[in-house]
Amino acid sequence: MTPRDYPSVLLIYTGGTIGMIENPETGALENFDFDHLLRHVPELRRFNSRISTYQFDPPIDSSDMEPAFWAKLVRIISYNYDNYDGFVILHGTDTMAYTASALSFMLENVGKPVILTGSQLPIGTLRTDGKENLITAIEIAASRHLDGSPIVTEVCIFFENELMRGNRATKINAENFNAFRSYNYPVLAKAGIHIRYHEYLIRRPIPSQPMKPHYLFDTNVVVLTLFPGIQENIVDSVLNVPGLKAVVLKTFGSGNAPQKDWLIRRLREATERGIIIVNISQCPAGAVEMERYGTGLQLLQAGVISGYDSTPECAVTKLMFLLGHGLSTEAVRRYMNSDLAGEITKNAN
Ligand code: ASP
Repeated sequence: MTPRDYPSVLLIYTGGTIGMIENPETGALENFDFDHLLRHVPELRRFNSRISTYQFDPPIDSSDMEPAFWAKLVRIISYNYDNYDGFVILHGTDTMAYTASALSFMLENVGKPVILTGSQLPIGTLRTDGKENLITAIEIAASRHLDGSPIVTEVCIFFENELMRGNRATKINAENFNAFRSYNYPVLAKAGIHIRYHEYLIRRPIPSQPMKPHYLFDTNVVVLTLFPGIQENIVDSVLNVPGLKAVVLKTFGSGNAPQKDWLIRRLREATERGIIIVNISQCPAGAVEMERYGTGLQLLQAGVISGYDSTPECAVTKLMFLLGHGLSTEAVRRYMNSDLAGEITKNAN
């Protein structure tokens, strides 16, 4: 293989712990520049891939991530889509699952690997997990079948040896290296001595159609978590926030809520006003089944729709994405109950 035939990867650095260094005065981790990061991974030069880089200027802590940056990422990827075999996005772990979910909808019919990764320890530290994550993410982004077609055709998160569907992953650990987990969908690949792809689990694009980038979002969305003792005045004020369009309602177990007349009445009034209320479980694993208990059925009767086995990150970003496209309430409700990018398991129950 000549260098011209080498797979090409665009490495996009948004920020996050992976590229941070310690401020000598405060001891806090702060963003540093991309060159610093690259200096610590001389291995990048040994790849049989052409790696180009793009960095956010300034790099951001992922707590500052927002839809405008998602649109920027989509712009970068779509502008460079035909010139690269794969894309790696270095991103802080805190909101990585939101970005991965959002991109899975914004890059409709994506046919190339878009791999998000980062680290729990900065790349300049001795025990960093960043090197391993970065190097393997690039290898995955560059991986092709013998006929040259990409092995991975999804937006994914690669972290601590596991490749996960992006809109199924959630950050579960602020301490250990295995920061992410995909509870409701199996991992797409495992990296050990070899990278073992579970190809039958990988989503494939419709070959006759191009990748279609999307940029619009409507952020008039709120997450409301139920808990024993929740007060009517609190629920009431959340549901009556001016401009509110959709609520991700985090319920108990398989989608259950307290059997309070006021709660059901308030929810019904909201759905009748056109507010979309999506029921997802507070349990990270398993799906909502509103027909299972009376405490769930009452929500269904109040016009609440199922979020199936969606992660909170995915439910929020999917709602913002759909609302951003100016669809009718009915259409958003219908799409929320449709599998657009492998984000829900409709026949889980
Ligand atoms: N606060 C950091 C961020 O999300 C944490 C990390 O990267 O792990 O940007």
